[in-house]
Amino acid sequence: MKVARLYDSTDIRFEEEPVPQVGPGEALVRTRACGICSGDVMGWYMKKKAPLVFGHEPAGEVVAVGAGVTNFKPGDRIFVHHHAPCFACRACQRGQFVQCSLWRASRIVPGGMAEYFLVPKENLSGDTLHLPAEFSFEDGSLVEPTACVVKSLRRSGLQSGERILIIGLGIMGQLHVALARHTGAEAVIAADFVPYRREKARGLGADLVLDPAQGSIEEAIREQTKGEMAEVVIVGPGSIDAMELGIRCVAPGGTVVLFTASPPEATLALLPYHLYFNEIRLIPSYSCGPNDTREALYLIREEVVKAEKFITHRFPFTAVQAAYQNAAQARDSLKTVVVFP
Ligand SMILES: [Zn+2]
Ligand SMILES: [Zn+2]
Repeated sequence: MKVARLYDSTDIRFEEEPVPQVGPGEALVRTRACGICSGDVMGWYMKKKAPLVFGHEPAGEVVAVGAGVTNFKPGDRIFVHHHAPCFACRACQRGQFVQCSLWRASRIVPGGMAEYFLVPKENLSGDTLHLPAEFSFEDGSLVEPTACVVKSLRRSGLQSGERILIIGLGIMGQLHVALARHTGAEAVIAADFVPYRREKARGLGADLVLDPAQGSIEEAIREQTKGEMAEVVIVGPGSIDAMELGIRCVAPGGTVVLFTASPPEATLALLPYHLYFNEIRLIPSYSCGPNDTREALYLIREEVVKAEKFITHRFPFTAVQAAYQNAAQARDSLKTVVVFP
């Protein structure tokens, strides 16, 4: 089978590999769609992982199952989460699935950007979902990114009637806009430098879209909220500037979600006095667990999220390099998906 192995952001090579053998409890899947994640195009992050067959947002069709598999059979259309927890350890019992050591170690083989991939036992039993009949494979590829946003908003504590500011309107920011609207936020305010993305956010229900190049976001929020600021701020980019902006824009008693990783050496200077007296929570939200993927599947079923609204670019697997460059440019695009025959 053909796989796309990333050596560097400008060097993705097609390589031939044997189709994985299916063992007991496992499944072999023919890949039909795989999204490119913001993380896949984060230079410092991929440098640590390369070379690898990237792609962790796959949907596909089961072609074979190993002994003992009863929930899935050839022909089933599925979403597979690339990480699955053990459900038994201390972290899992507290619902902190991404802190489970099995979650960290588990992964599909060799990755989503391959004609076929193997679903290990723990992923198959722990976080693989049947796609409802009305789902396209592209809808299925949105389960994982949507689930990351489900988790982020849950951790933010966003309640209906509250105000939310979303900094950064790539695909993950846009999903935050749609889900915050669905939650019943009183005001969804969104900021990004790219006009195309601001326009998209407006279309998804943002009440106010701001261009950071046109003036202070902090002042605009102050004016818009009569000085009360936003109860929840989602900081999309992993940049320190964006985090500092988020902390300046949050209301007293509010929550700032740090949605994206920063490089290991990055440091953020904080004023404990300000955080303390304003009781500001800083909450990181990393990836998602099996509870979140189920909720995401439900939201896609309810059409809060749909491929047509969020997937702006489709590339055939043969053009995976172009797909990657498109996602990396992060300009007039939301989700870039690679589709397989
Ligand atoms: Zn992802
Ligand atoms: Zn566990």
